[in-house]
Amino acid sequence: MSAPAEANLPLDHVAIAVTSLEEVCSLYELISGETRTTPEVLEAQGVRVAFVGSIEFLEPLNPETSVGRFISARGPSLHHVAYRTADIISEISRLKKNGFEVIDPEPRPGAKGHLVTFLHPSTAGGVLIELVQHPS
Ligand code: ZN
Repeated sequence: MSAPAEANLPLDHVAIAVTSLEEVCSLYELISGETRTTPEVLEAQGVRVAFVGSIEFLEPLNPETSVGRFISARGPSLHHVAYRTADIISEISRLKKNGFEVIDPEPRPGAKGHLVTFLHPSTAGGVLIELVQHPS
């Protein structure tokens, strides 16, 4: 698959699924010298979220959530890679045309007031990919 000329999405963040947001944020603050954001609860996604620099940490609200099941299966580990776009709707249609399975054809609210959608790992080299549109 060649990269179309119109695609030029910068990396926005990477996300790690963790069992303790506080413990892991402290580690990454020591590593990077950056300060964590105030944790946010995203009920619809079943997670508590905080960022340390460009790394997002996801703590499941309970073991039955999608991130809870992810940790049961794989342990705390890389959860997704996120690219930033200024126009998530047209990126969704471009990526669908290129054969990617879009998990949320209608983008939904993510952390920090972003609009987000995800590409299924089975069509994206085994890793969950997030598209992020920042508030304008
Ligand atoms: Zn993310």
